[in-house]
Amino acid sequence: MPGKNYRYNTSANGTHLVLEKTNLMLDTIRSIDKKFLSSFAIGWVETNYPNVGWKGKCPLPLCPSNKRNHGPKDLPAYMVSGRHEGYVFHCRCCKTRLTTYQLLITYGNTDIAEDYAQERWDAGELCGGGWTCPLPQKVREHLLNEKEKRRLAYQLADQQRKEENYRKKYNKD
Ligand SMILES: [Zn+2]
Repeated sequence: MPGKNYRYNTSANGTHLVLEKTNLMLDTIRSIDKKFLSSFAIGWVETNYPNVGWKGKCPLPLCPSNKRNHGPKDLPAYMVSGRHEGYVFHCRCCKTRLTTYQLLITYGNTDIAEDYAQERWDAGELCGGGWTCPLPQKVREHLLNEKEKRRLAYQLADQQRKEENYRKKYNKD
């Protein structure tokens, strides 16, 4: 059953479930990204260029750019929003691209990345399938539990149906 943000799209290749990302959703994600990135991007320079949020040093230890000193004009790493879903980290030097979630989980820590995913979920289920951010662990566990409950209920109903059929067939009580 599709959720509220999904619709079916029929094309020559068949019917696909398509995620609807409205401008409001994308704006919401950008503002959540900004909140989480602003504490992460300490020492980064906020820029006024269109679609670029910050620029700074590349946090990747193996990036060749870390071997030289940077003037404020040749900082290699950027956080760009553009038409992306939220901000994307991009380093001109090592060519790394990371979504905000990937950046938080790789160079922040798991708790921050979880808080981030939870905030996207709370803002209107803006994570999980079709999004660049996975479901927060708590939500994932809840959904899995619900799925498991449905599976067990189905199994039980199936077993009862079989027993019923068996009784009918052999006319046993
Ligand atoms: Zn780099």
